[in-house]
Amino acid sequence: MNPNQNAAPMQIALDGPSASGKSTVGAMLAERLGSSFLDTGMMYRAVTHLTIKNRVSAKDLDAVQNIAASTSFSVNQDESGDWRLFADGKDITDLLYSDEVNFKVSPISAIPALRRALVRQQRSIASAGPIVMAGRDIGTVVLADASIKVYLTASAATRADRRTNDSDGNADRQSYQQVLQSIQRRDQIDSNREDSPLRPAEDAIIIPTDNLTAEEVVEEILALIQSNADQAAAPMIAGGQTA
Ligand code: C5P
Repeated sequence: MNPNQNAAPMQIALDGPSASGKSTVGAMLAERLGSSFLDTGMMYRAVTHLTIKNRVSAKDLDAVQNIAASTSFSVNQDESGDWRLFADGKDITDLLYSDEVNFKVSPISAIPALRRALVRQQRSIASAGPIVMAGRDIGTVVLADASIKVYLTASAATRADRRTNDSDGNADRQSYQQVLQSIQRRDQIDSNREDSPLRPAEDAIIIPTDNLTAEEVVEEILALIQSNADQAAAPMIAGGQTA
């Protein structure tokens, strides 16, 4: 029997703090692997956007959970290759990076019932085929059995620099100091919440990215994937050791 016959689809978990490069690296990596890419931060941002739009208070836990559970999320690439998030079939990507969403997303993401609802959808999206998934709790919770787990780090100053120069969001219009404060505040909330705090999985490979380009990070992860595949393919000899 082909040992890969029943193999689960390849899953790459990519975690790290705000602006550590997960979305850029994740999308490039997915492109190289021919897999799909899900930036789970977009889903937390989407629920936050919908609570603001529907005037739901973050204190109304049932209502927040209900938004997460009753909205169907999916991702798709546009003609230029960018991954877009759809909520009940509607592309809402451009609504996810406002100052208000930036400010409210971390407190809302700490709500356990909301996380359960989104994790269910994230796993269902992952079950469709090979995927690179980026977030805070992918290696620890969402895809705890992922074949490769990577945790990207960078100093807050480097990350604020990158975000300030990022032409995608609206952060480029903000001052470096504002961006730095916003990143540090989100790091603090994300790392200290009780449910699925931001931290590397025990079996994650940590890649400090301060002095690396996104392309270099991608190459490092591809090398990791290759070395894992080589080990898995090495012929077994008696005693379970690889030759
Ligand atoms: O990745 P991004 O910075 O867009 O994520 C926005 C916020 O969503 C994070 O600061 C965090 O509060 C939340 N988040 C999360 N778990 C994930 C992904 C994002 O709690 N897996």
